[in-house]
Amino acid sequence: MRKIWRNVYNWGDPEKPIDKTIEHHINHFKHLLGIDGDRHDLPLNANAQQEVKLDKKSKLTRAALKDLMRFVGSDNVKVDDFSRARHSFGKYYADILKMRMGKVAHPPDAVVCPRTEEDLIKVINYCNTKRIAVVPWGAGSSVTRALEADKGGIALDLSVHLKDVLSLNAEDSTVTVEAGILGPDLEQYLNERGYTCGHFPQSFEFSTVGGWVAARGAGQASTGYGRIEDLLVGLRIVTPAGVISCGNYPAASVGGDIRHFVLGSEGTLGAISRVTLRVRKYNAANSILKSYMFKSFEQAVAAMRDMMQSQVYPPHFFRISDPEETEIGLGMKGKDKGITGALLNMLGFKKGGRSLMYAIFEGDPRQCKLGERVLGKFVRRHGGLSLGSYATRKWLEQRYSSAYMRDPMMDAGIRIDTLETSVHYSRLVELWQAVRAYIKSDGQTLCLTHISHTYETGANLYFIFASPMLLKDELNQFEKFHRGIVETFIAHGGTLSHHHGVGRLVSPLLTKQHSPATLEAWRAVKKALDPKGIMNPGALIF
Ligand SMILES: Cc1cc2nc3c(=O)[nH]c(=O)nc-3n(C[C@H](O)[C@H](O)[C@H](O)COP(=O)(O)OP(=O)(O)OC[C@H]3O[C@@H](n4cnc5c(N)ncnc54)[C@H](O)[C@@H]3O)c2cc1C
Repeated sequence: MRKIWRNVYNWGDPEKPIDKTIEHHINHFKHLLGIDGDRHDLPLNANAQQEVKLDKKSKLTRAALKDLMRFVGSDNVKVDDFSRARHSFGKYYADILKMRMGKVAHPPDAVVCPRTEEDLIKVINYCNTKRIAVVPWGAGSSVTRALEADKGGIALDLSVHLKDVLSLNAEDSTVTVEAGILGPDLEQYLNERGYTCGHFPQSFEFSTVGGWVAARGAGQASTGYGRIEDLLVGLRIVTPAGVISCGNYPAASVGGDIRHFVLGSEGTLGAISRVTLRVRKYNAANSILKSYMFKSFEQAVAAMRDMMQSQVYPPHFFRISDPEETEIGLGMKGKDKGITGALLNMLGFKKGGRSLMYAIFEGDPRQCKLGERVLGKFVRRHGGLSLGSYATRKWLEQRYSSAYMRDPMMDAGIRIDTLETSVHYSRLVELWQAVRAYIKSDGQTLCLTHISHTYETGANLYFIFASPMLLKDELNQFEKFHRGIVETFIAHGGTLSHHHGVGRLVSPLLTKQHSPATLEAWRAVKKALDPKGIMNPGALIF
C-alpha cells in the first residue's frame, strides 16, 4: 500500500474504481445540492497523494521499543509516520477533515500488534508498570473520536493477528472468536456451516467483533437478532489488574454481571481478547422480503409500533425512511417520475409525505409467513400499500455502499455525516421534527432520516445530513452544528447515542444522561481494573 494520506482515511481500497451505482448516487446528491463537477481546488483535497509525514516524532524511548519488540516480535512494533497516522483517528467527519489537512495532534508513539493473548498480557502489564497509555484498536471505524492517543503511548491493534475463529459449538449454538476478527470473515465461516452471527453494522466490512462489543453497537438486523449485548455470551478481557473471563453460562444469578461494564467500555478497562457469541441457523431461501408505502411518516411509525407490540415475531430487518429519504431514494432510482411516480400520486401517496417501510423476515419459514401476514394487517390498518419486494431487495444489495460515498463526496466539497439516537414512541415524531428543523436551519442542507432498530417501547432515529462545505472555518462550524444536534436529542427525550458510542465526542454531555452516582460507580470500576489510568485515557469520562 502506498504511504499516502488518501490511504490513511479512505473507506475501502482507494485504488479500486468507484462502483457505477455509487457514482450515480453521488451525482444525484451533487445535483440536489447544486454542485457542479469536483472541487479539486479545495485545500481539503491537497494532500491526498502526498506521502504521510507527521510533525510529532515518537516519544517512546529506545529501551521501551526494544522491550515491546521482545514481547511481540520486531515486525509487530511500528513507528513509521504512515502506521502512526492510520492509528490516530476513526471515521468521524471531523477526523477525516483533519487528516485531509494533515492535522494530527495526537498520534500514538507506536503501533503494537500482539500475536496471541499471551503477547497482549505482557504488553499491558509492561505499559502499566511504565505508565504508557494504551488505546485498543479494532478496525478503526469508530465515529466518536474514541481512538485518539491524547497521551501518546501505543495503539494496540488486534486486527492484524488476533482474528481466528476458535470454535463453533453447534450443540450450544455459540461461536468463540479472537476479538480482532472482521465481520465478513466471521460471517463467511458461519454461513458455510449453516449459521449466521446476525450482527451487521453498516461498517460490517471494516469493523471487528471486539470493537462491536467495546462500542456496544447494533447491526442492521438488530430487531430480529438483537443488539451486540443480546448476542454476547462470554468474553475474555486483559486489564491492567488481570484477565477477566466471564459469562460462560446460558444465564446466571451470581450478583452483578461484569459483561455490562465491558460492553461499551471503549477500551477504557482493557483489551478484549476473545468473544463468544450466540449464533442462529440460517437459510437464505427462507427469507421473505417486503416493502410498503405509507402516506405519512407518522402512519408508518404507527404500523411499526403495532407490529413490535403484537407479540408476533417482528421482521429481523425493520426500517422506515422518512419522506425526504424516501424521495431521494426514489429519485436515485428514477422511480419518482414515470409510471410508478404517477401511480403513487394518484393513490394519494404524495411527495413530501410518503414514507417507505422495509421488512425482511428470516429464520423458520412458518414464523416468516406469520410475521408477513400480521405485518400486512397493520400496514392496511394504517393506510399503507404493499409494493412487493423490489425496494427491499435493492436496499439489501446496497446496504454497505453508502460508506463508500463519503470520500468522493468530500472530494466534491460536500459535508456529509450522520448522527443517531433512540427515543420512546411517545416522543419519536416530536424528536424527529425538532432535529429536522434544527438541521434545516443550517442553510442548504439535505436531511435524510430513517428508523433502523426497533423495540417494543421505541426505536432509533438515524439522521444523515449533507450540505456544501464552507470554504472558511469548516471544522469549527461543523463541530458546533454537530453538538447542536446532540443537544436537540437530549432536549426531546433522546439518548446521546443509540449504537455509535461516546468516545471523546459526546462525553462532555454524559452528565446529562447519567446521574452523578452512576458516574461515580463507573469511575470505581475503572479504578479497580485500571488504577493508573493507562487504558484509552480521555475516552468516556476518564
Ligand atoms: C460507515 C460507518 C457505519 C457504521 N455503522 C454502524 C452500525 O450500523 N452499527 C454500529 O453499531 N456501529 C456503526 N458504526 C460505528 C463503528 O463501526 C462501530 O462502533 C464498531 O463497532 C467499531 O468497531 P471497530 O472494530 O472498528 O473498533 P474501533 O473503531 O477500532 O474501536 C472502537 C472503540 O472500541 C475500542 N476497542 C476496539 N477493539 C477493542 C478490543 N478488542 N478491546 C477493547 N476495546 C476495543 C477502541 O478502543 C475504541 O474505543 C459505523 C461506522 C462507520 C464509519
